[in-house]
Parts: sequence; C-alpha cells; structure tokens
Amino acid sequence: MSSTVITAFVATFATVGIALASPIDTSLRPKARPDGTQIPAVADTQATIYAELTSSVRPLARPKDLETAEAAPVSTSNAAFDRWIRGFRGRALAQGISARVFDAAFQNARYTPDVIIKDRNQTEFKSNIWDYLDNAAAPPKVEEGQQALRRHNPTLQRIEQRYGVDKEVVAAVWGLESRYGTRMGTYPMIDALATLAFDGRRGSFFEKQLITALKIVQSGDVTLRDFQGSWAGAMGHTQFIPTSYMAYAVDFDGDGKRDVWSSDPGDALASTAAYLRRFGWITGQPWGVEVRVPRGLGSTGGQRMPSQWAQLGVVGVDGRPVRDYGSASLLMPAGRNGAAFLVFKNFSVIKRYNNSDAYALGVGHLSDRLKGGPPIQGPWPRGYEPLSFNEKMELQSLLKSRGYALEKIDGLIGPNTRTAIADFQRSAGMRPDGNPSQDVLKQLKSR
Ligand code: CA
Repeated sequence: MSSTVITAFVATFATVGIALASPIDTSLRPKARPDGTQIPAVADTQATIYAELTSSVRPLARPKDLETAEAAPVSTSNAAFDRWIRGFRGRALAQGISARVFDAAFQNARYTPDVIIKDRNQTEFKSNIWDYLDNAAAPPKVEEGQQALRRHNPTLQRIEQRYGVDKEVVAAVWGLESRYGTRMGTYPMIDALATLAFDGRRGSFFEKQLITALKIVQSGDVTLRDFQGSWAGAMGHTQFIPTSYMAYAVDFDGDGKRDVWSSDPGDALASTAAYLRRFGWITGQPWGVEVRVPRGLGSTGGQRMPSQWAQLGVVGVDGRPVRDYGSASLLMPAGRNGAAFLVFKNFSVIKRYNNSDAYALGVGHLSDRLKGGPPIQGPWPRGYEPLSFNEKMELQSLLKSRGYALEKIDGLIGPNTRTAIADFQRSAGMRPDGNPSQDVLKQLKSR
C-alpha cells in the first residue's frame, strides 16, 4: 500500500465556491445481495474508508485524530490482544464465521505495532494540488502505465467492452492505487485488521472490515497465505477494502474465484471497472476537460452544458468550445489563478473510489496522459519556481548525500522528501515550507 492514497499526500486546495457535480445517483446501489445479506450502506463504500483515512477530505477530523494519537501510546501487550481475540471470536461466530475458519485465521495472528505506528504517523505535511498532480502523472508513472496497457491490452479491451469504462481510466486507478500492481501491500490482512480493530481508534469500522475479511476467507476466494494487503486493509491491485470487495469484486476470468491479488490483474481491474460502472460511469464521457476561464467571469457555480459555458467564455485550452458531453461544473482546484477544468458526471464517479477532488483529478489526468494527452496547460500559483522531474531526483540525491533520511530517489515529492527539504531549509536559514523549489536546489548545490 505504500503508494496508495491512504498514505499519499494530504491535498489541500482552495475550491472557489464551486458546487461540484450533483450528488451521485445512489439508486444504482443494490439493496441486498443474492444471498439476502445487506449490501453495506453508503458509509462503507470504497470512498468512505479513504475519507476516513485521508485528512484531505475531512480536515476537521485531523486535530482530534492527533489528540487521540498523543493520548494513547502504542500498546505492545499481547496478553490484551489475545483477550480481545477471545471476545471477538464470539462476535465473529455470531455473524456466521465458522469456528474452523476463525481458528485457522487466528492461529498465528499477531498484533502488529507497525500498523498502529503507520496509522498514527500519517503525514501532517500538506501537499498542494500541483504537487499531488505532478506526482500522480510523473514521467515514470505514465511510462509504466503505457507499458501495462500494452502488456494487458486484450484483458483491458474486454473489460472496457464489458463495463464501458475506458481502459486508461481503469489503468490510472491501478497506477495510483498500487503502481500497476507493484505495491499491493504485504501485511497479512488478519493481522493488520485485527490490530486496528483491537486498537480501537476506529475499532468498530475495522472490526466490521475484519469480519468481512473472514467471510472472504470462508468463501474460498483466497487462501490465508495469499491474503495480504496494505497496513490499513486495502487489498490487491486496486486496493479494495473488504466490504467493497465483498459487494463489488467480480470473477472476470471465470475460474470461480475473485482473485484481486493474482499476478494476472484481470479480476482486480474488472472489479474496478464494475465498481465505477455501478456508481454511474457514463460510457464515452470524459471525466473532465481543461479549460480557459475569462478573467471577469462572475459566479462560477452550478452546472451547465459546455456550449453554455462557452457563451460565458469558458472554452478548451485550444480556444474552442468543449463538446457537449453532458452537463459540467467548473472546477478551479487552486482558485482563479490556477488551472481550470470542466468536470462531468464521471468525475464524481471516480470520487466514489476516493472522495477527494485531488484523487479524481489525479486519476483523470493520468488517464489522459496514458492516452497520449499533454500535461496540464494552465499555470499553478505555486509561489515557487518548480523543478523538472530530473531536477527533483537531483534534489533528492543531494539531500540524501547530506544525510537526510530519504528512502528513495524517485523524483516523487512525498512527505519524506518534504520533511527533508524543510529540515534542510531550517538549517540553511530559509523558510521551512518543504517546497521542491529551484531555490532549494540552488542552495543545496552551493553547499
Ligand atoms: Ca477469477
């Protein structure tokens, strides 16, 4: 999970009083599964866990989280964990988990302090929308995505035909969630979820995920040995949490198992397409289109057809009106001095995966790049002179050679790099904003 959005950057950005697309039509949600069990309520969708776990969409929750984190030290008591398991066993069995499955799953279950450390150390560093998008569509991610599209083209073609979701959009979700299957997470699911459920900070949420995880094991879709995921319990190529998996995953290759962990990503990618379809994906409609907005434009709220937006002077970056794909909202994620987009219904469908404008822009933009589209044309009010991708690698190398704790020289500016930059800035008497600027690179080179 290391590269998924849960640990990814906290995106803060000014939305300038823009009402995004209308609330999602939830009528597409099934009321109950064929076996009669209830489909989880809206509060259990893929989007919600991310809303819970990223502070980007719930900034108000943050201070309280931190308070809790400080108040409760990481427990290392296995005795308490074992007691909790004994109590949980009864609750799990009451919900239909067989004793055999439960005991096998918990035979070697371990409290995993690392999970709690990760849970409590989610970055506080705010990343801006431009940094987030730079990372989401960084050159290696575009290149790897195009390779993945070529390698899995027959499967992705069939998925596109079956579900009507562009294969590049599915690939972009894959890229952001697990870097095309290279970072799916290797935490044993039972350990991670039991630790989080026992820890109690969001105990009831994770207990529900854990019970669902046991149902997945009971269904035979996956063996305990292969049942791995992120520290926060997101699984496989496209990082479904157990309740989303239970409700939406599909067996695309027809082998009788919904295998989202396999080296063959077919089931996982089809599950993602099925999920987007289920939440109202409109075939043939783009997620959004970058536009130019005239300076004097007044209120920008509401939804209009692109031809109506064109009458207000809102046109594509090529100067021509955007095609009437459907009604659109104007999104200016960094305010009036930044890039602007007309976003369609499909934008809000992507947000069902992760309820964040930054995430949906990341998926949308990366999918455009995978189709061969250009970088975002509009300016961003960065307040600093940005670095090229290669210069970011150079910046990271210089920081690392000076002893700052950096895991990777990968040109992606995440929380670790920002912290290192800020530490360096402090030592150099600069303002510690953590920004990867030309200024910082110059200072690093001169020392
Ligand atoms: Ca399968």
